[in-house]
Amino acid sequence: MKRHNFSAGPCVLPKEVILKASEALLDFDNGLSLIEISHRSKPFVDVMEKARALALELLGLEGKGYKALFLQGGASTQFLMVALNLLEKRAGYLNTGTWSDKAIKEAKIYDDVYEVGSSKNANFNYIPKGFDVPSDYDYLHVTSNNTIFGTQIKSFPKVDIPLVCDMSSDIFSRTLDFSKFDLIYAGAQKNMGPAGTTLVVIKEDILGKVSRKIPSMMDYKMHIDKGSMFNTPPVFAVYTSMLTMQWLKDLGGIKAIEKENEKKAILMYSEIDLNPLFKGYAAKEDRSKMNATFTLENENLKETFEAMVTENGINGINGHRSVGGYRASMYNALSLDSVKVLVEIMSELESKA
Ligand SMILES: *Cc1c(COP(=O)(O)O)cnc(C)c1O
Repeated sequence: MKRHNFSAGPCVLPKEVILKASEALLDFDNGLSLIEISHRSKPFVDVMEKARALALELLGLEGKGYKALFLQGGASTQFLMVALNLLEKRAGYLNTGTWSDKAIKEAKIYDDVYEVGSSKNANFNYIPKGFDVPSDYDYLHVTSNNTIFGTQIKSFPKVDIPLVCDMSSDIFSRTLDFSKFDLIYAGAQKNMGPAGTTLVVIKEDILGKVSRKIPSMMDYKMHIDKGSMFNTPPVFAVYTSMLTMQWLKDLGGIKAIEKENEKKAILMYSEIDLNPLFKGYAAKEDRSKMNATFTLENENLKETFEAMVTENGINGINGHRSVGGYRASMYNALSLDSVKVLVEIMSELESKA
């Protein structure tokens, strides 16, 4: 049976990427596996350099003072690393969900944090707008896509302080002027590769401005100086991420995948809106093109719906416990056909009801 993987993360990756990555496990360099050669050997150093270059190329940030790193510890480690490297007196955070909330909690350990806006009172079903950001703050931190609640920032605040963005769940999915951001980070396991590495893209000139001592593993400058090889990098995760970025480049880059993502989101949300059995969770203007959150209004149909989901090979559409209902994650590698299968089941349920 063909499976349709709507999992929120780790999640679907291009089949050809998984195939190439598995070949490299068996034979990467003349009979040696990717995971048994030195990370300092030329074949792997080339992989790391290519991955770093592809990230900047896809984002249109080459030659603009940015460096790309592939670090460990997940996006969750970035919550504290951002604060350690950039927070001197006070920073602003936009609280749009569980992940921003966690980023705020970590930053508070190091210094003062002010929530410039929050949608907590509405269980994060919308993106706050029209808030002020004082220009003497060290930086503003935002989360571009809220994986759990299914909201996405469409228009980013214009600020004259460094703009830091957690793009874990929508990196490489839509065109943006990425040069508006001074630091972007994204855990690999949503649009790039297996868990185990986190892409960090930093404008170098924002570093070196805090007075605290930064432990080496937490120091962006150290990782930049060492070419993202300060310690043994997660070789398999970096290699697979490199393959996904190459796949995306060959497709035509972010512009090309954005068109596909648009089609998937339009199909999914029109079913949610037209089918009286379902109801969207997020405010319409803030809906995420990556994670569509919705509920089934008639509890009596739950069993029938979930049986149909299973019978049709659909995986991973249960909502996060803090929202309930369902969540269809439509990352780059999910095909439009998979969305069609889900939408057909939803409309079949309507005709049964
Ligand atoms: C998944 C996710 C995280 C957490 O990533 P880890 O790599 O598990 O630490 C952080 N932010 C967002 C927006 C996410 O979707």
